Amino acid sequence: MTGETLRVARTHFPVSALGPGLRLGVWVQGCPLACKGCMSLDTWEPDGGAAMPVDALAERWRAALGRGAAGLTISGGEPLAQPGPLAAFLDAADQVRAGRPGEPDILMFTGYTLDELDPAQRLAASYADVLVTGRYEADRPTRLVWRGSANQQMVLQSELGRRRYAPYLALEPEQPPLQLRADEHGVWLVGVPLRGTLPRLDREMRRRGLPPETVTWRPRPSGHGRRREGADSPDDGETR
Ligand code: SF4
Repeated sequence: MTGETLRVARTHFPVSALGPGLRLGVWVQGCPLACKGCMSLDTWEPDGGAAMPVDALAERWRAALGRGAAGLTISGGEPLAQPGPLAAFLDAADQVRAGRPGEPDILMFTGYTLDELDPAQRLAASYADVLVTGRYEADRPTRLVWRGSANQQMVLQSELGRRRYAPYLALEPEQPPLQLRADEHGVWLVGVPLRGTLPRLDREMRRRGLPPETVTWRPRPSGHGRRREGADSPDDGETR
């Protein structure tokens, strides 16, 4: 028992579009980096989402492994904006995965570059087998899988990470892996779409008479980052 809580936007299993195999996705709430063109504005508010006990998250990871998860994907928001609770969760997650068949891996997306990390952030990041680092830069498109812009780096940190992710370092799929998921809060697009995909989706929905009420890539008229007080289980859900 750690007693720590991590502010989380949502979790989802199975995620198939952010890392190899079926994975538990954890979207951490709060991001101070404000990349222009970010598709996840709903994850920016540091007090949005819900505070989730690290032990409950670790149990969710254990359950996902019981259902055959190949790995854990941490995204956001900016995971390293909460380095202490994140390290506590990843330490627990690392213990839970030890000795499991299939060698489940940990993949983390961060908007920071390695040289920007302070010691607490470095410690949290050290649990990841693979990091995807760097701000999203809308004017530097890329087709590299799981990277949103050409400046972002895939850093293979462990022997498992090198073995499993080396084939993806230079992979440019014709279409990036994407996944749609619907819940009571809306429809979530999971993955790293090519530049222009979201506006096209928006236009197409309007053309068909289904204009989206709100989307996470445009600011809401009166703030965003819905707060879900009292929830220790932000359901399951969404996007890088
Ligand atoms: S792209 Fe990622 S790092 Fe950049 S503002 Fe959005 S959530 Fe934050």
